[in-house]
Amino acid sequence: METLFYNVGGGHDNQMIGRAAHIIMRGGLVAFPTETVYGLGCNAYDGEAALRVFKAKGRPADNPLIVHVAEPHDAYAFAEPTPMYDKLAERFMPGPLTVVLPKKEIIPDEVTAGNDTVAVRCPSDPTAHALIKSAGCPIAAPSANRSGSPSPTTADHVFDDLDGRIDMILDGGPCTIGLESTVIKLDGENCTILRPGAITKEMLEEVCGTVSVAKAVIDPSAVKDGNVPSPGMKYKHYAPRAEVVLVSADREKFLAYVSETASSGDAVMCAEEDMPAVRSDLICLPMGHADRPEEASQRLYAALRTADDRRAAHVFVRKPGTDGVELAMYNRLIRAAECKITEI
Ligand code: AMP
Ligand code: MG
Repeated sequence: METLFYNVGGGHDNQMIGRAAHIIMRGGLVAFPTETVYGLGCNAYDGEAALRVFKAKGRPADNPLIVHVAEPHDAYAFAEPTPMYDKLAERFMPGPLTVVLPKKEIIPDEVTAGNDTVAVRCPSDPTAHALIKSAGCPIAAPSANRSGSPSPTTADHVFDDLDGRIDMILDGGPCTIGLESTVIKLDGENCTILRPGAITKEMLEEVCGTVSVAKAVIDPSAVKDGNVPSPGMKYKHYAPRAEVVLVSADREKFLAYVSETASSGDAVMCAEEDMPAVRSDLICLPMGHADRPEEASQRLYAALRTADDRRAAHVFVRKPGTDGVELAMYNRLIRAAECKITEI
């Protein structure tokens, strides 16, 4: 199959958006930018189209898709939102928050992988918004990568993974957040974080009664034997081919450890301030300013892909904290490192 590739220049190319919307309406697959990562979209009411998404990605059939809407209220057509959904929508939508709700019959089982719940998200990216509006249906979309590889944060990443397997790629530039959305489950006033993202526990606490974090977020080994609240937690995910060495140490000790133990050609993620301290025979992956964790989040997946492109055997990364936006980084890295932490 030939994959069309178009630059949409910030969501204002109505002709291209219209063409993409037509592809979605007739059951095809379109990759599109969102503020989190690129999504691979299909008509959420079309079970066969959803199966094509699983096939193009090589995604395990039991891992459900997130359904994207143009306006938070559109969820009422296919889900059973609660009063807390409306409160959260008021505060955080459009934006990087996904809410798991009871589903209505109109959503096919293929989309929810047989679950009686559906995950709903309203993206803020202007291209994503224009595409969903133009298609006139909710769009089911997982991340637009081959299953198991790091999520795509540029259209080129999507091209590398899915060229020839999908109908179209819309290029809207690099994603501003760079990590997947926060996924939550609601129980009345209470909220459980199933996957951390840019909408943090602390932010959710300002709206919800209590906010808890599913055990598997911090300790993926807790879910190895099935029975997980969110199926995506089971999979290795987010992993490059290189071995990720997650090091628990302060910045100085981390740099000293890398200097002593890394082999020539290994890669190291470090703060921009620390770049001069990295040995010249290592691949230095600059992750932004040391006290701006959101910059590191935005660059994480591209950095992992760079390490693979340059054939690094190892990628050394300093273990992030578990508060605020750092929890999302921690969650992705602990999986990429297969739960191994090197304590210094
Ligand atoms: P992706 O869009 O590739 O980041 O994957 C979407 C993730 O959302 C899945 O891996 C699940 O963990 C989560 N998800 C989607 N639908 C549900 C659902 N009905 N219940 C719980 N988690 C869900
Ligand atoms: Mg994904």
